[in-house]
Amino acid sequence: MRQISHVIAGASASSGTRTGEVFSPASGEVQARVSLGVAADLERAVVAARTAQPAWARVNPQRRARVLFRFKELVEANMDALAELLASEHGKVVADARGDIQRGLDVIEFCCGIPHALKGEYTQGAGPGIDVYSMRQPVGIGAGITPFNFPAMIPMWMFGPAIACGNAFILKPSERDPSVPNRLAELMIEAGLPEGILQVVHGDKEMVDAILDHPAIGAVSFVGSSDIAQYVYARGAAAGKRVQAMGGAKNHGVVMPDADLDQVVADLCGAAFGSAGERCMALPVVVPVGDRTADALRERLVPAIEALRVGVPGDPDAHYGPVVTAIHKKRIETWIRIGVEEGAELVVDGRDFILQGHENGFFIGPSLFDHVKPAMESYREEIFGPVLQMVRAPDFESALALADRHQYGNGVAIFTRNGHAAREFASRVQVGMVGINVPIPVPVAYHSFGGWKRSGFGDHNQHGMEGVRFWTRVKTVTQRWPDGMAPTGTTDAFLIPTMD
Ligand code: NAD
Repeated sequence: MRQISHVIAGASASSGTRTGEVFSPASGEVQARVSLGVAADLERAVVAARTAQPAWARVNPQRRARVLFRFKELVEANMDALAELLASEHGKVVADARGDIQRGLDVIEFCCGIPHALKGEYTQGAGPGIDVYSMRQPVGIGAGITPFNFPAMIPMWMFGPAIACGNAFILKPSERDPSVPNRLAELMIEAGLPEGILQVVHGDKEMVDAILDHPAIGAVSFVGSSDIAQYVYARGAAAGKRVQAMGGAKNHGVVMPDADLDQVVADLCGAAFGSAGERCMALPVVVPVGDRTADALRERLVPAIEALRVGVPGDPDAHYGPVVTAIHKKRIETWIRIGVEEGAELVVDGRDFILQGHENGFFIGPSLFDHVKPAMESYREEIFGPVLQMVRAPDFESALALADRHQYGNGVAIFTRNGHAAREFASRVQVGMVGINVPIPVPVAYHSFGGWKRSGFGDHNQHGMEGVRFWTRVKTVTQRWPDGMAPTGTTDAFLIPTMD
């Protein structure tokens, strides 16, 4: 059986006896085993990072960017193989896996312009003969802990800016689909990155705790579910680290009475069911405003959902594939059962779906609930599966309040032709990323990604200039070059300096 090992100091390294199973979600079989590392594995990675990082930080930013250019070309040249590998472990369809890689590459492309982003600030003549300048310096060693649902994009969100800014970076990817992160690290080394600057350590909580407690790691970026995000934030911060921790989501799509319903149905099907709903920017809650809007929407939605094709990742006509594990499939089915018990109307039930020839795969059909109420647990919690919940709202204010009061605040969308309603919604809603007639408002690479409330702990978003800020520390220099004349004044030296 294929063994997946750490990538430490530029080489494959396995250790210990603990391993985890990596499934093929389409067949239900174990296709590989991944090393579950311990503190000693991390220590070896930290030693390699510490050795390599000072020299990497001294490489000028333009040359660092050239390595990223070469990496981007190598990933493009290997795109087909990477997408197939990703899909085989995650379960998403191959075309969607390419999108996962491409959205990560967009961030790498942004990082190719790092010299511009690191230019700093300068004030000439801030006082008599005094100039002030500030510069951004790398944190040193950074670490990233990533979820299963974007095994290429999210690691690249993190290691792109971290490395471009002159840091060494240690990645702890999800143990459920660990192969693509390894391939990305190998391609970085092939692109000319010095050994020890990008390393991959695999593992579970034991490895995460070792990262959070290690005194040499200055910054930790986490993406995953909210309880763990909060835990990582608290433990990392207690150890004196800079931490950004992105959590779960339950994104709402508000449909105003004037919306183009055909467009909304097409958008909702993609955003609620694409990647089997395993996206933190999925749209699992639809909020039609007014019963007439709700009834008209439901009438169009049901046949569209029933026409969705669930298939293996390699099926070019499939809209989505299996979910990641059997445990996750069971969890989704449990949430559907809870929704029924809580009194929501299950309009389309995806639980009995079986893909012929793949009876042991982790497939689940699409489900639609109507008359979901805000007090229901199945509404308050994240399901992370192909389940769309309709919560009817009487008016705009109630729809806005639903999104505002929800514990998560990652993304939200409004569908309308009314510019005033859209503007009002975007400025007032308590959510980090807003779409106006855009169902999945994932910001482009040169803006930044981050949610509010229980969707994000800590400071700074992912990528764009926010990524550069997270992975650097500001140093400010105040300088004076004496002109050689005898000093004037005697008592001023004892006062707090002012620039008067
Ligand atoms: P997860 O929280 O189970 O795992 C994330 C990471 O944490 C993994 O690397 C895992 O090994 C590690 N981990 C798991 N249990 C741990 C523990 N007890 N202590 C320490 N570390 C632990 O998340 P997942 O199931 O891999 O991913 C899905 C979740 O991620 C969803 O909640 C989704 O909304 C969220 N997500 C959020 C964003 C965002 O940007 N906000 C993006 C993608 C996914």
